[in-house]
Amino acid sequence: MKRNLSGLILSLIISVTAIFMLTNCTHNDQFTVCIDAGHGGYDNGTKSPTSILEKDINLKVALKLGKILEKNNIKVVYTRTNDKVPWPSNQKSSLKERCYISNKAKADLFISIHCNYDEFSSITRGPETWCRFSETPEENLAKNIQNELVNLKYSHNRGLKYEKNGGLYVLRHTKAVSALVELGFLSNSKDTKFLITNKAQEKCAQAIARGILNFKNYKS
Ligand SMILES: [Zn+2]
Repeated sequence: MKRNLSGLILSLIISVTAIFMLTNCTHNDQFTVCIDAGHGGYDNGTKSPTSILEKDINLKVALKLGKILEKNNIKVVYTRTNDKVPWPSNQKSSLKERCYISNKAKADLFISIHCNYDEFSSITRGPETWCRFSETPEENLAKNIQNELVNLKYSHNRGLKYEKNGGLYVLRHTKAVSALVELGFLSNSKDTKFLITNKAQEKCAQAIARGILNFKNYKS
């Protein structure tokens, strides 16, 4: 009887350990996306002539995107979830910290969300998505996201942009497959009018999520 009891306890311990290891393992293996709402706090980003701040649109789309991804069983890590930023008020610390958050979380993907501005023309409009180089997973991710945004038909298609068009710190210093999305131009009244609505922000978030899921499903 005593022997049976110790046997039972031993198998119980083994089972619990196995379940714990399995859960832990699944947790570590969970596909992780780091969502970076560009700017924030002291840094407004760009500003429309009607005083719409880029940082606010970026954040709203980022939070909506996170919710959609979580519903699709993806682990989400944010660089910020409100207008308070935990890093010192300078650009170098801000960019460094965003990359650190993504790298520390061992994110599979890093998605930075921004809005654009053209100081020379108010006609320039439309989304564009940045990656570093062509023929890379980054380009594939950027392509998937850009296609989905373009399919919403709210503006012009400005296509993909590469390192040669101007390097971006967060793309260079994140270990994840990274892309930076410019949703549209706050210097253009039509883009701005669209991007400030809750409905449009939801649509953009859904489009980016579809791009991410297409990329993920194609890869696995
Ligand atoms: Zn920006």
